[in-house]
Amino acid sequence: MTSDPDGGQPAPRPRAPCSKVVALLADYLDGRLPDDRHTELTRHLDDCHTCLAQLQTYRSTVSLLRSLREEDLPSDLRLTLSAFLDQHANN
Ligand SMILES: [Zn+2]
Repeated sequence: MTSDPDGGQPAPRPRAPCSKVVALLADYLDGRLPDDRHTELTRHLDDCHTCLAQLQTYRSTVSLLRSLREEDLPSDLRLTLSAFLDQHANN
């Protein structure tokens, strides 16, 4: 018995955790991230279907909202949407 329990191979370069990627999606879509961070997210999205789905949902929601005019919406839907936007704008 020796005192060297840590003889495994080094871990591969850690990937950004999904929660971090999701939190940065808005900035990512707006192109507000530094290049290295942007590349990191692009790589993550390349092989993480969970985050990719989040990105697509986010992107289509934002473009849908931008294409709508408020007066076209029923008032209860308008409230739901503005609550949604408030949540995301505060991040
Ligand atoms: Zn992910």
